[in-house]
Amino acid sequence: MKKVIYPGTFDPVTNGHIDIVERASTLFDEVIVTVAKNPSKKPLFTVDERLEMLHESMKNKPNVIIDSFDGLVVEHAKEVGAIGIIRGLRAISDFEYEFQMALMNRKLSDELTTIFLMPHEKYTYLNSTIIRNLAQFEAEYSDFVPPIVIQKLKEKSAKK
Ligand code: ADP
Repeated sequence: MKKVIYPGTFDPVTNGHIDIVERASTLFDEVIVTVAKNPSKKPLFTVDERLEMLHESMKNKPNVIIDSFDGLVVEHAKEVGAIGIIRGLRAISDFEYEFQMALMNRKLSDELTTIFLMPHEKYTYLNSTIIRNLAQFEAEYSDFVPPIVIQKLKEKSAKK
């Protein structure tokens, strides 16, 4: 059983993340999408809200599991028995940071391999920050996120 983990902040999950999960789920037996609690990033959504959006948007994918972790990705990967770490690469601008992380994670745990997947080109300029900004200014972003995220972003701005 080949398991991989796909760690991220997912604040909120976008169709770019979902594209990566779909590609990984055809290559491996199980994909564990894992929410980094990352309080230092001051996420807009709580961990529970991020988990709920991921659960809802992955509910039709039988070999995808959702969880969360605090601390080192490599430790969590070992705990769940993953053989690799999935990351998305959108553009050259992602490369330097991702390369550093992958090499550091390899130094920390030699048996874990980082696997980079590229999304469909329509998602290469998409990230969670852009979605949060578009939502804040009530611009159109519905092509880039699942329906549950639209609903949750509307609820957030209604509370403000
Ligand atoms: P992090 O804080 O770890 O960067 P993100 O939720 O922003 O968390 O991203 C998690 C992973 O998904 C990263 O590898 C990132 O490069 C990738 N990713 C983010 N947005 C996209 C996208 N639109 N297409 C493909 N991969 C993406």
